[in-house]
Amino acid sequence: MNSPDLPGQPQLAYRGNELFLEDVRLSDLAKQHGTPLFVYSKGAMLAALAAYQRGFAGRDVQICYAVKANSSLSVIQVFALAGCGFDIVSGGEIERVLAAGGQADRIIFSGVGKTRAEMRRALDVGIGCFNVESEAELDVLNEVASAMGVRAPVSIRVNPNVDPKTHPYISTGLKSSKFGIPHERVLPTYQRAAALKGLRVIGIDCHIGSQITQEEPYLETVDRMIDLVEAIEAAGIPIQHIDFGGGLGINYNGETPPGAEQLWKKLLARLDARGFGRRQLMIEPGRSLVGNAGVCLTEVLYLKPGAQKNFCIIDAAMNDLPRPAMYQAFHQIVPLHQREAAAVTWDVVGPVCESGDWIGHDRELAVQAGDLLAVLSAGAFCMSMASNYNARGRAPEILVTGEQAHVIRLRETLADQMRQEKLL
Ligand SMILES: *Cc1c(COP(=O)(O)O)cnc(C)c1O
Repeated sequence: MNSPDLPGQPQLAYRGNELFLEDVRLSDLAKQHGTPLFVYSKGAMLAALAAYQRGFAGRDVQICYAVKANSSLSVIQVFALAGCGFDIVSGGEIERVLAAGGQADRIIFSGVGKTRAEMRRALDVGIGCFNVESEAELDVLNEVASAMGVRAPVSIRVNPNVDPKTHPYISTGLKSSKFGIPHERVLPTYQRAAALKGLRVIGIDCHIGSQITQEEPYLETVDRMIDLVEAIEAAGIPIQHIDFGGGLGINYNGETPPGAEQLWKKLLARLDARGFGRRQLMIEPGRSLVGNAGVCLTEVLYLKPGAQKNFCIIDAAMNDLPRPAMYQAFHQIVPLHQREAAAVTWDVVGPVCESGDWIGHDRELAVQAGDLLAVLSAGAFCMSMASNYNARGRAPEILVTGEQAHVIRLRETLADQMRQEKLL
């Protein structure tokens, strides 16, 4: 029998007919813990991080894991223990990083809508940098910091107007985007920031989008960022660090994004050529550190063959795996136990009462009701986006390392779901 190709999933492989993540047989976990169930490989996360670390070898760099990709405490802890900083986008994410043992001074705070309360908390715990996204936010941060008698460390997120050539919902560096300061407003904004007593300008940052599979948008961004740093420093405002954001894509369905190591070697060569290779550098990768480290296990509930379409109804749904419904995203779907049977074409769908609740269209699978499947590349932007839609409890999570499987989140119960509600 042909083993399906499992591209980009370093720790996932069939042994005989059985799918393993690291040295754990996935069907054992599904039977023991039920489905839907997220399973992550610690080894795959650390291998993805190691590719970045090799790319930056010998440089002054802070790799800040973008927590929104997967904000589970143990996942944050894995990166904290590996020496990472963190890119966060809410007060909730600050508390998650601190609760998981992350260092406050290695936190950078991104996002267009920081509240005063979030700013105060971030200043209280001593985060490393605010990535400020608008002139109005600069003024508010200045006010909050001044009232506390401190100076807020800031970097200004610039919008380099580079097309990352990805899905429009995850493009963030174009002029039409809500993110960052437009290119032509960057210098005046730095001059304004430098004049505010409650702020301390320390860096510059950008983030052009997500699931980027080509290197050109990054190379273009490096050039535009250096042009800006030169102009800002010529105006007498020193820039300590340059932050290139995140966004490197992963292989969901045969995409061939550049490897982190190769990409950074190229970008560093460009920085060296322009005399900036010894600056303090930062990056904010999320998806590329965790996306292909995780799978979502699910059981086939019903087969519903039809005149136009055959439906394979599974017990995972858009509330567990929101990316297909949100961005028409592709996740590979494979059996935990391979059958000797002819494959049929199925639309793999969840139980939620929405036509948008599909996980995969037109998939060739040899399946029967009761079979277990794995939805691949489910480590990023799945659990962190999961909801209770249709009063479905969120799935548990397990982190495997070698032969060991650690439950890192229990299945959400109905009591959990109803805890904050009150009857009239
Ligand atoms: C989402 C986000 C990231 C991480 O993006 P990935 O595509 O997951 O690497 C980094 N920085 C900022 C500001 C973000 O919003």
